[in-house]
Amino acid sequence: MSIASNLSQVLTSIPSHIKLVAVTKTQPVEKIMELYNAGHKLFGENKVQELVSKYEQLPKDIQWHLIGHLQSNKVKLIAPFVTLIHSIDSIKLLEEVNKQAAKNNRVIDCLLQLHIATEETKFGLDTREALDLLLSRKVPELKNVRIVGLMGMASNTTNEVQIKQEFDILSKFYRFIKGEAAYVNFHFHILSMGMSSDYKLAVTAGSNLIRVGSLLFKD
Ligand SMILES: *Cc1c(COP(=O)(O)O)cnc(C)c1O
Repeated sequence: MSIASNLSQVLTSIPSHIKLVAVTKTQPVEKIMELYNAGHKLFGENKVQELVSKYEQLPKDIQWHLIGHLQSNKVKLIAPFVTLIHSIDSIKLLEEVNKQAAKNNRVIDCLLQLHIATEETKFGLDTREALDLLLSRKVPELKNVRIVGLMGMASNTTNEVQIKQEFDILSKFYRFIKGEAAYVNFHFHILSMGMSSDYKLAVTAGSNLIRVGSLLFKD
């Protein structure tokens, strides 16, 4: 199967209002160009260095998302061009994104990353920490960032019941925040969940932004 046909298979398997971030990590630019030439313009990388290098090498009408863990000292490298940061996990990081966005005269959209998996190794906030962040009095002062939604990764397991439960928890929390008057200023509209192995479960649970990598690049 070609990369272009993998892409159309994934796109036809999801409702048209759901967006696909093609995760290009570890892929060479020639392969990414196959997706681009098939009309895809929304890509994600999990490492800052790789994101910057691919941004520099590839066409400038591509939208780039940072989907992996972000260290404060690297924010300045992506602030000039990144479209969406999926991995905000502290107010300190959000403040740094705001500072670097201001230097670039930009407003950068961000998602809070929630920890929904059972593995210890995955980054992210629990729901209590996310609410504390959203209600922090510092947030309204950050004029150069917008918190537009949530991101989460399910456990790396073949147990579909467990994966579905984890996505449901995040989806419920997302809908709670969307429905609360206290958060109306947040322009909440993005729920980022679902990867190659579990995107169909994520879509069923209410995801509207899936992050698919290996499935697009498989032979
Ligand atoms: C790698 C990665 C993905 C995509 O994973 P695949 O299994 O290759 O589809 C999605 N989200 C994040 C945060 C990732 O690091």
